[in-house]
Formats: sequence, structure tokens, C-alpha cells
Amino acid sequence: MTLPLPHPALAAADPELAGLVADEERLQAETLRMIPSENYVSHAVLEASGTVLQNKYSEGYPGRRYYEGQQVIDQVERLAVARAKALFGVEHANVQPYSGSPANLAVYLAFARPGDTVMGMALPMGGHLTHGWGVSATGTWFNGVRYGVRADTGLIDFDEVREIALKERPKIIFCGGTALPRTIDFAAFAEIARESGAVLVADVAHIAGLIAGGAHPSPVPHADVVSTTTHKTLRGPRGAMLMCREEHAKAIDKAVFPGLQGGPHNQTTAAIAVALHEAASPAFRTYAHAVVANARALADALLAKGFDLVSGGTDNHLILMDLTGRDVPGKIAAKALDRAGIVVNYNTVPYDPRKPFDPSGIRLGTPSLTSRGLTADHMPTVADWIDRAVTAARSGDEDTLTRIRTEVAALMSEHPAPGLPV
Ligand SMILES: *Cc1c(COP(=O)(O)O)cnc(C)c1O
Repeated sequence: MTLPLPHPALAAADPELAGLVADEERLQAETLRMIPSENYVSHAVLEASGTVLQNKYSEGYPGRRYYEGQQVIDQVERLAVARAKALFGVEHANVQPYSGSPANLAVYLAFARPGDTVMGMALPMGGHLTHGWGVSATGTWFNGVRYGVRADTGLIDFDEVREIALKERPKIIFCGGTALPRTIDFAAFAEIARESGAVLVADVAHIAGLIAGGAHPSPVPHADVVSTTTHKTLRGPRGAMLMCREEHAKAIDKAVFPGLQGGPHNQTTAAIAVALHEAASPAFRTYAHAVVANARALADALLAKGFDLVSGGTDNHLILMDLTGRDVPGKIAAKALDRAGIVVNYNTVPYDPRKPFDPSGIRLGTPSLTSRGLTADHMPTVADWIDRAVTAARSGDEDTLTRIRTEVAALMSEHPAPGLPV
């Protein structure tokens, strides 16, 4: 099947690159994309991120720029900020961070000095690199101390978090992560941050869309700063936002610019504004709840197939599967699933005896397939594909993987993805 090229200027100017874009469009159309940090943006978000706003330099903030000609750009950024504040109910929003990692780095710049102690969830337990993990600049320039989850429950142990916080007295505590299948208790973290005198940062990169849609509790009443990407469950362009109370507004803004960045990516700011507008709609609330309902239904179906899920299931959009009992390493399973048209990532599981580059688990999620309109009724089929593919991965049964890929593509063709040519 060849898709029509929807980018005529690109196809004329650079057929080679246009061909690659078309290939990627086909891949995204035909496969079941289950990486929980990914999604499909709407056609409107795609269009907004490809405009002449790209051409404009605007270092500074609306009304306080270092370049002239900001008559329109100021309005674009003000609109994005106003929508972020309304959607999340925050006093202040900065929409300029280039992505989630630079946003978090700006938080360090605002509240800590090199060598200070900072605290976050350990990467192999589900935390993010930028929460003070060793190979990240944040773990190199700061003294990162870590909490994890309990081996028996797969859940955060708040007694442990409190004990470490009171002993280490970190300047910043991060909560949130990249492989946490359960609701984050922001109030519990806030209490510990208060007791230990730390700034609490809720990094909701993964779950921002669920929060906006009312499908996960909001960190806003509890956290000093809320950091988020805009491109995961929020369904915006690749970018990030930092939100906070008025008392921290100056420190955050100063850290982003001039502390860390130069000119904001105005085409991205515009697309963030569009995504926030979409996320404020009743349809998005329905979407956010459907993401969670699909993840629950998928978890139930996978448990019924005998899979071992970290923490025993999910409260949100993602599932972390431990494949030890199936006798297949996560990487082998992930690559086999990819050949079967089901795109996931291999992932460490808590207390993983295997190495990070060859761990025991896979991580999967429902944001993208929900954007295509798949429902809980489809999840037993998805679980069956995963079960067959993991079994085939172990026995090297390529025919089964090829058969699944055809079945997946057939279902995908009935559920066109937003933003992609049909
Ligand atoms: C994705 C993610 C980030 C980083 O975002 P990038 O845009 O990839 O830099 C930061 N924190 C958490 C919790 C994330 O899930």
C-alpha cells in the first residue's frame, strides 16, 4: 500500500527526505504503537508546529523581549500560558522549555547549586534520568540520593522516602517517573518535602494528559513546581512546561531564560497552545478516561494469560511486564513484538537481576491506540497478540510474528490515526 504524499513542497524539493517521512507515516499507520511515552498528535497540532512562527527569534518573555517584531509572537505565547494556567489551575506557567530534560535542568538551576543533595526515584525502579541519576548531568553535578519501590508490592514505600529525606535533607525532591503504573500520592510526597525542607517537584511528563482529563489526581495543590513534557499523554508537540505558584515564578522564568536557553521555539509554543485547547475539551476528558480503561482491560487480559505485571496491574496508562517467568529476556521479546507490528520498549523491572541494556521486562501503554479509537473490547485481542508473539520469540517462530503483523495492520486500517494520511 502506498500512501499519498501530503507534503508536495517537500516531495518536490527533497524527494529522498520526503520518502523517509512517508515511510514513517506508513509505519505509524500500520503498527500498534504501545510505547507509553508516545502518542499521535492531531492534524491541527501538526500544522501549528510547521508554520512561519519557526522564523522568529524572541528571547525573553511577552512584553520583555530582546528582539523587535514581537507583535504576534507575544500573543501566541500569552495564549499558550493562559491556556496552561486555566487547564491545570496553576498560578504561573512557563511554556518555553525545549523538552522535559531541559525543563528539569532549569528546576535545578532555580533551586540548587552544584554539589547539593537532590532526591528522586532510582532509574531502574521507574524514575527518570534527570532526577539525579548518575549518568545524567543531574547526577554528575548534584549529589543524587534515591528511593525505590518495595520488592514485595512494587509500590513506593513512604516510610523509606521519609527516612531518606530526613537523613539526607535534599534541596529538591522529585516525584513521578517513566515506568510507574500506579497513582502517585502527591500529598504524601508534599508532607515529606515539608518535613525535610525540600522543594517538591512533580514531574508528570507521562501523565499530564490524564491529569488534564481528570483521570489522575492533580499535583497542583501539593507540589511547589510541576514539570511536564507536552508530547506524551497530553498529545501536544515535543516540548515542555514548568508550572508553579507565583512565589516561584521569577526563579523558574530566570532559570529557563537566560539561565539555560536562548530563543524559544515559537512554532512549538503555538502547537502547545493548540494541544492545550484540545485538552480542555469534553472529548479529551473522554479520551483520558478511555486511556486508563484500556490499560486496565489490557492488564486484566494479560494477567489472564499468566503474565507477571509489576505491582499486579495498573492505575494509569502504562503496564510494566516482568518476563522472567516466560523465560524470554525483555529485549528479545521487544524485538519480536516489533517484527509482529507491536511497538514497545524493553525496560528494567524493580530489582532486575539483568543489565539495563538487556533487562527482564517490557513497558507498554495505551495512549496511542486510544487516540486511534480502540476500546476495552479490543484489549483481549491485543493481549492475545502479545502472548503469541512472546511465545514465538522464545521458540524463534517467525511465521507467527509475520501472521500477527498482518492481523495488526488489518485492525489498524479500520482505525485511522490522527494526523496521518489515510
Ligand atoms: C519523558 C520524560 C522526561 C524527559 O522528556 P524529554 O522530552 O525526553 O527530555 C522527563 N521526566 C519524565 C518523568 C519523563 O517521562
